[in-house]
Amino acid sequence: MFCAFCKSFTLNTFCKICSQILSEPSPIVRELEGFKIYSFYGYSEIKELIHSKHQMHGYFIYKNLAKFAFKKFAKSFSFPEQVYALPIDDRVHHGYSHTAILANALRAKNLKPIFHALQATSNISYSGKDLQFRQNNPRNFKILKKITAPVILVDDIVTTGTTILEAKNTLEKAGVKVLFALVLADAKY
Ligand SMILES: [Zn+2]
Repeated sequence: MFCAFCKSFTLNTFCKICSQILSEPSPIVRELEGFKIYSFYGYSEIKELIHSKHQMHGYFIYKNLAKFAFKKFAKSFSFPEQVYALPIDDRVHHGYSHTAILANALRAKNLKPIFHALQATSNISYSGKDLQFRQNNPRNFKILKKITAPVILVDDIVTTGTTILEAKNTLEKAGVKVLFALVLADAKY
């Protein structure tokens, strides 16, 4: 087997050196309409890893990235009341949901994931599309569960932020407090 990051020989998904590098992300924050979106990596750094979500082996890559970044975040997290980690649109593709894998790593005292709570009803692909297109073609999120605690939104990538803001607005309209968003990578970097 070869390391998914540097292609050197390893028995694991990532070699020892890459595991170490990826375990020390430098979080970036982006603020959109007063809402904070924290990302762990620059998109350009881990582009190939992000794209693995369209294939079966992406399951192992996302599992590892969830451990390197999200699990570490959860360890440093402290909150006085119950908070949910809510993956944006965690429908299953290719046998797994990559956003559910990320949210699943967010477990700590007063923090746990909530699955199948928010789903897009539009399947239009945003890949390569500009902000105008994205705004003209909303995801039309539907809330599928009663959400009784504030939430942290979870996604793999923030590009224009349209999806995250739409998810946030849908939840807020339903009376759910949305604290911030956590994503693997910011497309700006
Ligand atoms: Zn490597």
